[in-house]
Amino acid sequence: MFTSSEISEIQKLLIPQNKIVIITHYNPDGDAIGSSLGLKHFLQQKGLEADVIVPNDFPKFLKWMPDSKKIIIADYKRKQAGEAIYNADVIFILDFNASHRSGNLVGPWIEKAKAKKILIDHHQQPDHFDFVYSDVTVPATSQMIYHFIQTMNEENLVNQEISECLYTGIMTDTGGFRFRSTSADTHRIVANLIEKGADPAKISSNTWDTNTVSRLHLLALILGRIEVVKDGKVAILWLKRDELKEFGFQKGDTEGFVNYGLSIMGTRVSAFFMEDLYEDFIKISFRSKDDVDVNQFSRKYFNGGGHINAAGGKYMKTIEETIEDFKERIELEEF
Ligand code: 5GP
Ligand code: MN
Repeated sequence: MFTSSEISEIQKLLIPQNKIVIITHYNPDGDAIGSSLGLKHFLQQKGLEADVIVPNDFPKFLKWMPDSKKIIIADYKRKQAGEAIYNADVIFILDFNASHRSGNLVGPWIEKAKAKKILIDHHQQPDHFDFVYSDVTVPATSQMIYHFIQTMNEENLVNQEISECLYTGIMTDTGGFRFRSTSADTHRIVANLIEKGADPAKISSNTWDTNTVSRLHLLALILGRIEVVKDGKVAILWLKRDELKEFGFQKGDTEGFVNYGLSIMGTRVSAFFMEDLYEDFIKISFRSKDDVDVNQFSRKYFNGGGHINAAGGKYMKTIEETIEDFKERIELEEF
């Protein structure tokens, strides 16, 4: 957590004269959007306006969240996003650890911005910013926003909108309160959020009962050819661009697919390889169990990173070559 002197410095920055911007990572997920909108609604409760800026569009299943329609998508509104970042006095950097994680457009804007930069994030190895609250043991940035509010003694300001947003972030980043870093603290905060207006049935239904037919068809396809290697310890899933097109892929359709690999008895790692729809690279998602560190693995071999049990990467070869390279590299590692 921020020190008490950092908190009082931050409080001094949170005044109506200051322009506040909240930015999150490329391909924003439930925690990115939940923490950003949760913080925006909290600042609103304090009488402050803030713009939430995301580098690119986010999945439809998050667009029910309060004020999600007001999010500025930099890919579509370059000028507005660029000017807001340039003119900002305060920038909150949520759910990512280094400027480049917000992409080629927004990343350099963050670096050049004159604003005071406040990072709140749970990814490994954060870069330096003016204020850094980094804790890799917390399952969701949305949970850290709640801690931040508590530390400022402003829990009384938490309303239904804030609760819904933070609940969504915690629920999605813990895989429905299942993943390893889910703690008693997580559940205490979630209990508070429910008391303050978050409705678990409504939120999980809005977020998860939203399968498109294209998503289910894609899921059937990849489950039908899932491959298990390294004595049953590693599951491999993959999708090609032509298949995405054939099934009418929409953003968010493949979210969570990688987890199916980990649900197989005995697997320690699941890897999901997907050709990008437009550009020639392979997007990779890794998930692991226990102390198998896919953050290190992805940093070492696949230009990526993330958390110990959930990481991503990017590779510039064909999908066949990428999977071959992956199979060679897992033989070099003990899982
Ligand atoms: P996902 O597989 O859901 O895309 O990502 C899993 C986790 O790894 C997320 O926390 C995400 O922020 C992180 N991550 C995904 N792709 C990359 C990447 O290319 N580089 C780094 N450093 N982290 C990534
Ligand atoms: Mn997160």
